[in-house]
Amino acid sequence: MSRIPRIVILGAGYGGIVTAIRLQKELNYNEADVTLVNKHDYHYITTHLHMPAAGTDNPENARVNILKLIDEFKIDFVKSTVVQIRPQEKKVILEEGTLSYDYLVIGLGGEPETFGIPGLKEYALGIRSINSVRFIREHIEYQFAKFKREPNRTDYLTFIVGGAGFTGIEFVGELADRIPELCKEFDVDPSLVKIYNIEAAPTALPGFDPELVEYAMNVLQNKGVTFKIATAIKECTPEGVLLATGEEIKSSTVIWTGGIRGNHMLEEAGFETMRGRIKVDETLRAPGHDNVYVLGDCSIVMSPEGRPYPPTAQISMQQAEICAQNLVGQIRGSELKAFEYKPKGTVASLGRGEAIGIVGSKKIKGGTAAIMKKVVDLRYLYIIGGIPLVLKKGRF
Ligand code: FAD
Ligand code: NAD
Repeated sequence: MSRIPRIVILGAGYGGIVTAIRLQKELNYNEADVTLVNKHDYHYITTHLHMPAAGTDNPENARVNILKLIDEFKIDFVKSTVVQIRPQEKKVILEEGTLSYDYLVIGLGGEPETFGIPGLKEYALGIRSINSVRFIREHIEYQFAKFKREPNRTDYLTFIVGGAGFTGIEFVGELADRIPELCKEFDVDPSLVKIYNIEAAPTALPGFDPELVEYAMNVLQNKGVTFKIATAIKECTPEGVLLATGEEIKSSTVIWTGGIRGNHMLEEAGFETMRGRIKVDETLRAPGHDNVYVLGDCSIVMSPEGRPYPPTAQISMQQAEICAQNLVGQIRGSELKAFEYKPKGTVASLGRGEAIGIVGSKKIKGGTAAIMKKVVDLRYLYIIGGIPLVLKKGRF
């Protein structure tokens, strides 16, 4: 009798968890052994992380226990950190042990892209995980406490966000909402607090609808955010940032939201990568590796115009659906499906009650967009955990 094929899924982010959930529905008893590996025993909702990072929401609301999402009788969950992928040997090395696979799904997410800018790795903070946002939240509060002991150090009250892409914009929206609460709590004059959002491109949210970008900037400026557009960060130091214009801004808090790249282990494993990401074939497999699927921020999918689609939760989830179907197809010997991305739109929050978005061909802004953002978030909770998860973690 032939051996049951082994599927190993690396990462329980959007791509990994949705693949696991779909596989547990699709596969028949004894058709495959499926193992899901993740660093933590929880899945985190990356699209919420700007809120706990600023302290406008509790980190608990952005994470879900993985065992509440998967059926342990169908999927083995291994809580461990992947340290190496060995595609030639069909093995994955974990911090505690080794896993062999017949089919591999890589959904390890992205890493901050620092473009070699000196000091960013050492001195800037990134919004990447539950642990990183807990740190940012505590760090921000601590700056207020420190200022009370050293009132001449206004750099403690200067917050720099590097990059005005969607992550930067969503974070400054939350931070601007949080500052008045912190000023009240620590008896600090709000006029001493500065939030800078620094963007290298000629506009915030490069490539997005200009009318909505203008709306977003107005909302955020009215909340106290200062934009420095067409201004690249050249260096990050323990004292703040140096800009390409020659200006120095002193700050004890630099949050880097300047973009992401793929997981470093992909390059190390010998896959061909572009900014650490693997350009997958139409079935979502790594070229030359017909048993390795790559999802989400680790992958690149080209648009019909020949440009990479931006890495988002939306594309990761759509990839996961096809990846699961193709794994089942490969095991059963049926034809594989080609992945075709169907963008449903983009909605970005600007803090309490404000957002911008394009849904289908319709532009939305203000309260309507903020409600749409909540709907998108609730839909995701429903997809992975049904009504019980919506009721437990949903923010209404
Ligand atoms: P991730 O969701 O990043 O998951 C990777 C998983 O792998 C994690 O569970 C991690 O713990 C695990 N992992 C990593 N390394 C290891 C290791 N070595 N060993 C074991 N496990 C490991 N996209 C949208 O479409 N809409 C939005 O509104 C949106 N908002 C965003 C807001 C913020 C603040 C941020 C930062 C991003 C946002 N994005 C949004 C982008 C979106 O979150 C990412 O594109 C998406 O999370 C990518 O999914 P993924 O499955 O590739 O990886
Ligand atoms: P990004 O790559 O989209 O934006 C990074 C920004 O940093 C760019 O505008 C870039 O010009 C700027 N930048 C780069 N180097 C710089 C420098 N030296 N100085 C100043 N600015 C610099 O990255 P992101 O915002 O983290 O988004 C990552 C992905 O997640 C994207 O695909 C995005 O669409 C997605 N996302 C989506 C949402 C949403 O849909 N609501 C929210 C957050 C993130």
